[in-house]
Amino acid sequence: MSHQEDCIFCKIVNKEIPAAIIYEDEETMAFVDIAQVTKGHTLLIPKSHEENIFELKASTAATLFQVAPKVANALKAAFSPLGMNLVNNNGKAASQEVFHYHLHLIPRYGEEDGFK
Ligand code: 5GP
Ligand code: ZN
Repeated sequence: MSHQEDCIFCKIVNKEIPAAIIYEDEETMAFVDIAQVTKGHTLLIPKSHEENIFELKASTAATLFQVAPKVANALKAAFSPLGMNLVNNNGKAASQEVFHYHLHLIPRYGEEDGFK
């Protein structure tokens, strides 16, 4: 499992810093975003440190998308959103701030939920 010193998400994987973990298995983890843009905003990550889509292994992508529907449905059951955005930023120019691959799962509650 590749790990990078000074990566905040690797630290969450290794339980060196706390997070509200809502799902975890051998290869993936989902936890609540520290600055939720809507109620239930969650990040799904591979435990392996792969920076973004440009270095994501196909096998890691497959694993992550096997888990994504489970996490989406858990959030749907917990928060009853009307819909959900899956967002993924790759590269600084595309607003990536944490350089450990992650999918944002953003529950949507209608026009007044504040997320554009
Ligand atoms: P990006 O812009 O890279 O796609 O998104 C990074 C996300 O990680 C942001 O939504 C930010 O709020 C979240 N984030 C950054 N640091 C932490 C942290 O220490 N814990 C958690 N739970 N989320 C974080
Ligand atoms: Zn990392």
